Amino acid sequence: DHDMAARLAARMGMGHEPATVHAVDDVSFSVAPGEVVGLVGESGSGKSTIGRMIAGLLPPTHGTIRFEGADITTRNRAETTAAALQIQMIFQDPMSSLNPRMRVRDIISEAPVYHGIITQSQAREFVAQMLERVGLEPTAGDRYPHQFSGGQRQRIVIARALAVSPQFLICDESVAALDVSIQAQVLNLFMRLRRELGLAYLFISHDLGVVEHISDRVVILYLGRVVEIAPTDALFSDARHPYTQALLAEVPRLSFEKRRFEPIKGEIPSPMNPPPGCHFHTRCPFAGPRCSREVPRLRQDGPRAVACHLEDGGVA
Ligand code: SF4
Ligand code: MG
Repeated sequence: DHDMAARLAARMGMGHEPATVHAVDDVSFSVAPGEVVGLVGESGSGKSTIGRMIAGLLPPTHGTIRFEGADITTRNRAETTAAALQIQMIFQDPMSSLNPRMRVRDIISEAPVYHGIITQSQAREFVAQMLERVGLEPTAGDRYPHQFSGGQRQRIVIARALAVSPQFLICDESVAALDVSIQAQVLNLFMRLRRELGLAYLFISHDLGVVEHISDRVVILYLGRVVEIAPTDALFSDARHPYTQALLAEVPRLSFEKRRFEPIKGEIPSPMNPPPGCHFHTRCPFAGPRCSREVPRLRQDGPRAVACHLEDGGVA
């Protein structure tokens, strides 16, 4: 369908060689314009690796990343710069991504001036607009990052991202370091920006509560593989993959789910040396002989997809 041209489609893999990055194995999903997709998994699931590959910060060893129909897998060429600006990443810790010696005005105007989106003489007015857009005083541009709270600093990071007019934000645990009340404020900001600017998001989080709040669809990762994709409502009312069910059992307020499913037993195995077959078989209460032998396929069923032998002929 013609929508596909405007989707972000990421199909990528990450080899097992580099010891510092978590392996990702043939992950494939897309994000439509204006859509919020939550990407959920435990630490070591590869969710940050995927975000960094889409943002162009980490090259995949194989596979392609497409944006608006164009291959942006390698982004060191001039013709891919425009696409790179369209995709901005927002990390967990705003302090480490803000230069402490730069005024907020220069932090926000640096990229748009460099890329010719605005001139230096337009910077003051432009920065004031960006700051207002994220709920900060226009005069905040005169100050330095350390003069702001954690939540305000994250707003500065968001303003810097918005300054190059992106269509797509990758948020990697972007509210995880903030107090719960501040988390809600920043999430509300993300939702407002989506309404006002039509932004799409890939919202990476270990926290299903946060993801439920903000996402249209959710992608569940386990040890570098997608195990389930579903519209958010469907996922929370009718999780199909045993790993998703176990994750839901750990969300405290979902008392109904808690009675239906057992929380996950055991440690997550090393992502460098995942179990054969279904990676989840070492912790799955439903595992059978087939599960350690054969990798389950991610089977599409309408808007949903599940990778589990229970949904595909059984575990025997
Ligand atoms: Fe559990 Fe087997 Fe399904 Fe994996 S394939 S989630 S081990 S039942
Ligand atoms: Mg991470």
